[in-house]
Parts: sequence; structure tokens; C-alpha cells
Amino acid sequence: MKDVQLHNLTFEPFISEAEIEKVVMALSVKIDKDYKDRNPILLIVLNGAFIFAADLVRQLSIPLRLDFVKVSSYSGTESTGKLGEHFLWNMPLEGQDVLIIEDIVDTGHTLHHLNHKIKSQNPASVEIACLLIKPIAYKYPDVIKYQGMEIPNEFVVGYGLDYNGIGRDLGSIYKKKDI
Ligand code: 5GP
Repeated sequence: MKDVQLHNLTFEPFISEAEIEKVVMALSVKIDKDYKDRNPILLIVLNGAFIFAADLVRQLSIPLRLDFVKVSSYSGTESTGKLGEHFLWNMPLEGQDVLIIEDIVDTGHTLHHLNHKIKSQNPASVEIACLLIKPIAYKYPDVIKYQGMEIPNEFVVGYGLDYNGIGRDLGSIYKKKDI
């Protein structure tokens, strides 16, 4: 696989499509087992998680419902620490098993904020599933029960993740190249 150029930055191949598929499959097996006989609401965090969520839900066998939230905390290649809420879920969450589906966890700011909002609706349970996590950057106590893969503190794109609006359509994951 070749490097890709997005705006002013070069990105190098990092996680292949085959590896991503394995990670998504392993997560789906765990989630299917834990939510057997339940009917969770999967809350997809847009924009970045749309491809991960699309692959994950098609691997799952449990009956589930989907809803979406759109938030943003990133500008360029940095977490800003501020969270923009573009829209939140529509379904009533009270008494429901909620599983948040996030693409990547960096500082954890986005998830912490969402978790707090969701809990205020009195759901039966709230858990988090993410494809990628940067443990070095993560700074909140919230437990992330379903973690696909740990990565170093690098900026990555592809498979739904963008750099200033582009790169989401790349089939595999690339990391920023140090030049
Ligand atoms: P946090 O709030 O945990 O600091 O950041 C989470 C959000 O920032 C993710 O949902 C994602 O949108 C964005 N983000 C975090 N790290 C990366 C990264 O390496 N690449 C891209 N493209 N977005 C990231």
C-alpha cells in the first residue's frame, strides 16, 4: 500500500482492511454474547463512526435498534477539549440498554460528555464500544468495555476518520507520517 496525501500532510499505511475486519468480528462476538436476550439501542457517534458501525451492525446477530448523535471536538489533528453538539438521539433512552459506538477514543472528552448526557436519561445500562483507543491520551475514568485495538498517540485517517473533511473514504487506516 502506498502513502496518501491529504491537504498538506502525508499519511502512511497503518492498519489493513483484513486487520480491521478481524477486530470488528472479535468485537461483534463479544457484544452478541453479552447482549443475548436484550434489545440494545446502538448510539452511533457521527461522523467518524459511520463505517465502523455499518460493518459492526452487519456482523451482530442480536436484535438491535440504531440511533445517531453528531458531535465534534477535533480541529485539524488536535482535540480542542470543547465539544460541539450538532444533534442528539431521538429515541427515548429511559430503561433501555444503550451501547455507544465510537470510532476512536483520544482524550475521552467526547465520550465522557456523551456518557453523562445519556445517563441523565435513566437508561437501564450504558456501555461503550470503540474501534480504536489511544491509551496514552485517555484521561477519564469511564470504562470502555469493548475496545477494538489500542494504538499509540498518532493521528490516523481512513475507515470513516478524516483530516479536515477528507480521507473518510479510505478503506484502511493510515497514520500521519513524520517528515
Ligand atoms: P476525544 O474527545 O476522545 O479527545 O476525541 C474523540 C474524537 O476526536 C473522535 O470521535 C474523532 O472524531 C476525533 N479523533 C480523535 N483522534 C483522532 C485521530 O487520530 N484521527 C481522526 N481523524 N480523528 C480523531
